Amino acid sequence: MVKPTLAIIIPCLNEELLVESTVNRLFEVINTLIEKDKIKKNSYIYLVDDGSTDKTWEIIEKLHNENPLVKGAKFVKNYGNQKALVAGLLGTREIGCDCVVSIDADLQQDEWAIEKFIDKYSEGYDIVCGIRNSRDTDSFFKKYTALCFYKVMNLLGAKIPVNHSDYRLVSNKSLKILEQYPEKQLFLRGFFNEIGLKTAYVNFDVKPRMLGKSKFNFLKLLGLALNGITSFSIIPLRIIAVLGFIMALASLGYGLEVMYEKIILDCTPKGWATQICLLTFFGGIQLFCLGIIGEYLGQVYREVKARPRYVNDIELK
Ligand code: UDP
Ligand code: MG
Repeated sequence: MVKPTLAIIIPCLNEELLVESTVNRLFEVINTLIEKDKIKKNSYIYLVDDGSTDKTWEIIEKLHNENPLVKGAKFVKNYGNQKALVAGLLGTREIGCDCVVSIDADLQQDEWAIEKFIDKYSEGYDIVCGIRNSRDTDSFFKKYTALCFYKVMNLLGAKIPVNHSDYRLVSNKSLKILEQYPEKQLFLRGFFNEIGLKTAYVNFDVKPRMLGKSKFNFLKLLGLALNGITSFSIIPLRIIAVLGFIMALASLGYGLEVMYEKIILDCTPKGWATQICLLTFFGGIQLFCLGIIGEYLGQVYREVKARPRYVNDIELK
């Protein structure tokens, strides 16, 4: 295989403390790979500013003026990390490259694993997913909610690799497929698994965040998880239907029992407490199920409006 041009994309939300050192460290990786004759000299870095309110974009512009191999785009507002990644993937496809690696601005993922990604790409893989070795850097809460998420996703049939975040390499061929997906609320982990191209897995170490705070709060993580589920599985809707059927059967049985007590045994059925319990229990289940249906409806609503995925304010090519 011919030497590829590599693009590294980085989503950034308020990363003024880190962005410059991150770019420098990634150029060390790029230059080492160029020296080893594994990638082409025109390999570059593409930063997507996801509506930062600090000096992130000013720093990106300065880096671009010093070195045109630093490119990027700025969103008009915060659209979230998945859309920033999609913007990076489509932006680099437009500029041109053979493969793209996405990595977080805080470089919590070991950047030297990129060499292994490239090796896999050269062996003919279109997608190389980074799999974290441990979750020691995560809080107790994040570790277990994340594990729970992977379990639920896999049970629901959207087979995403466990402990794979968005640290991955994808080929130009994958980007071409991405372009054909008009879906606005893309969940990239599910998407790259679904398209069915040849995929390899590479383990990497995770480090603690050096500066700044995590940009993912509980609500953002929950939104990501719900989007992941609703965009890749309709099994929850089927579970609701089955649940409804079972409940109808159970209530039919209970009704027969009441009639038997009344007609045959001639006693007035007792059980006020039972009724209240059943009423609140089923009321709760119904609302929960409605909520699930609502999530899907919301997904359809957002897609059907067909608003642009994101709006770029400025682009540096
Ligand atoms: N990020 C983003 N938009 C958001 C949230 C996060 O572009 O709305 C970026 C962030 O700047 C970082 C990456 O996504 O480059 C991962 O975020 P972070 O490191 O804060 O997440 P964590 O490692 O805590 O899961
Ligand atoms: Mg991080």
